[in-house]
Amino acid sequence: MAKISINLTSGTITKSATVIGIDLGTTNSLIASINEQDRTPFCLTKDDESIVPSAIHFDTENIIVGKKAISQLVSKPENTIYSVKRLLGKSYKDLLTSNHKLNYEIIDDNEQGLVKIKANGKQYSPIELSSYILQELKSIAENQLKSEVNKVVITVPAYFNDSQRQATRDAGKLAGMDVLRIINEPTAASLAYGIGQNTEEPKTVAVYDLGGGTFDISILNIQDGVFEVLSTNGDTYLGGDDIDREIQLYWASKYNFKTLNTNDEQLIRITAEEAKKSLSISNEFNTQLTVAGISYDISLTVEQLNTLIQPLVERTMQKCKNALKDADLSQREINEVVLVGGSTRTPLVKKTVAQLFQSAKINDTIDPDEVVALGAAIEADILAGNRKDMLLLDITPLSLGIETLGGLMDVLIPRNNKIPTKLRKEYTTSVDGQVNLKIAVYQGERELAADNRKLGEFVLKNIPAMPAGLPKIEMTFMLNADGILEVSAEEKRSGTKQVVEMKPQYGLSDTDIKQMLQDSIDNAQEDMAKRSIAESITEAEQLIYATDKFIRDNPNLLVDAEIAEITTLKNKLQASINAKAKDDIVSTMDHLNDYSRQFAERAMDINISKALQGKDITK
Ligand code: ADP
Ligand code: MG
Repeated sequence: MAKISINLTSGTITKSATVIGIDLGTTNSLIASINEQDRTPFCLTKDDESIVPSAIHFDTENIIVGKKAISQLVSKPENTIYSVKRLLGKSYKDLLTSNHKLNYEIIDDNEQGLVKIKANGKQYSPIELSSYILQELKSIAENQLKSEVNKVVITVPAYFNDSQRQATRDAGKLAGMDVLRIINEPTAASLAYGIGQNTEEPKTVAVYDLGGGTFDISILNIQDGVFEVLSTNGDTYLGGDDIDREIQLYWASKYNFKTLNTNDEQLIRITAEEAKKSLSISNEFNTQLTVAGISYDISLTVEQLNTLIQPLVERTMQKCKNALKDADLSQREINEVVLVGGSTRTPLVKKTVAQLFQSAKINDTIDPDEVVALGAAIEADILAGNRKDMLLLDITPLSLGIETLGGLMDVLIPRNNKIPTKLRKEYTTSVDGQVNLKIAVYQGERELAADNRKLGEFVLKNIPAMPAGLPKIEMTFMLNADGILEVSAEEKRSGTKQVVEMKPQYGLSDTDIKQMLQDSIDNAQEDMAKRSIAESITEAEQLIYATDKFIRDNPNLLVDAEIAEITTLKNKLQASINAKAKDDIVSTMDHLNDYSRQFAERAMDINISKALQGKDITK
């Protein structure tokens, strides 16, 4: 499948990189490539199966990935890891807030703050575990393509933050891959349907993705090959697994099963999933099941299933409406809907989505399990330069900035800015002779940095000593196409420079992002008041600093009584700063300024007369 090109001048033969896209899913993962003849994408398979369950089992010697790993879930749960995507880029603290239990052990690693998982008596990071899944996919592809796979595009949910994207990229690196780009799953799914290709006409697309354990709705605007995420919404704990659970509960009450052991429970769970899948193409499901030694005739009809899952489907509708609201759109403004995820095969799901987006074209002809991987392969093909008409862009969901004087958040890259992007801003020092400058980077919408999420900090060292305000410190934020942030600080006069790539300590879920946005709206008024106080405190502190400096520099200019008066006013100002009393701060500053003006004039007169005498006035 790989393209071979011959360099005619040197005579060397180079094998062009195989085009590869990967859907690294919570429940299932897939790998796809492109047919060189007609440039259509296709999924790679092992034993005719394209779906690789995202599960890892550690037996005494080997690491097993996929279907075989899943089969160990009942007998050896502690050494069988699933849903590792939920842990990527997350801290132990992040997980405390979720009350969803996992069957394996999670360790708090204080050094990095990122979670580790205990299996097989060892500790593994979610990055390592994800890399095992990627290695399995890589070997499936290499077996089938008979060529080396290394340049890849990997998809992530649209709401993934920098930390989670970086973790995904690292997992790829660890699996021996060169990750060309991390792209959003809804973008990939739209690409697979060719939406936005070869058209100047803008399109508004809703991507409805109901997987095994997660639900995502993304609203995209696609124009001239630019994919812009207008909004995302969803539920990280809503999916096909919940449908299975509803069926299990229904059967448990209908058939009144006797006490169940783990094996029985597992059997019922698997049968429930089987029933659900078969009801996607037929009206009734029947089987015989032996539970706790008793045989039962089990059945489920489509009507019964629909009644059971109606509330779940309704919940996804609510999320869709929220996403529309965030994007400031009505459902009539959606031109196309793309169905993604195995659970969208359920007829009630399809019907309900179609009802909500009545005027849209429903795209459901591509296998909903494969559609994301297929789109990722198309993106890889675009990056390989095989489809020159296409370009991919995304946007950043939260603002990025630094903490400035008074603890205020100063935004460099605003929320919803298109990426890749590069933005610059100039800063200076506030204290004379300052040689080190601490730069703390934050993500969020609140006025005070401390209310936002800290991504990291570093110190710009060895700034040559200069009076306050003189150094020119240029901050550059570069957000690359994967949403990874490179922060650089340079003192322009001296050339002192430092560059840091942000590896955020904590991950954020989509709910966290939404919460952060909501908080900034809820607290807008209070935040503005805080900002205004912080600004006057900064101003007042600078005035105190300047006054002290003036007294120090001009020992002979003031008489004791004047110094005493200045000290009284300064103390009063300090007290109002401590009390954070904005009005007092402003009026005391006015007093101090008014009173000090005479001395400044006096100093100026002296300097002028010195200058007239031809003396040097610089100190
Ligand atoms: P993820 O994106 O979370 O990795 P998938 O998109 O692979 O998940 O979806 C897996 C879910 O799809 C499972 O809950 C599975 O039971 C469900 N599913 C698969 N096939 C069908 C079907 N024919 N009808 C209904 N649900 C299905
Ligand atoms: Mg998926």
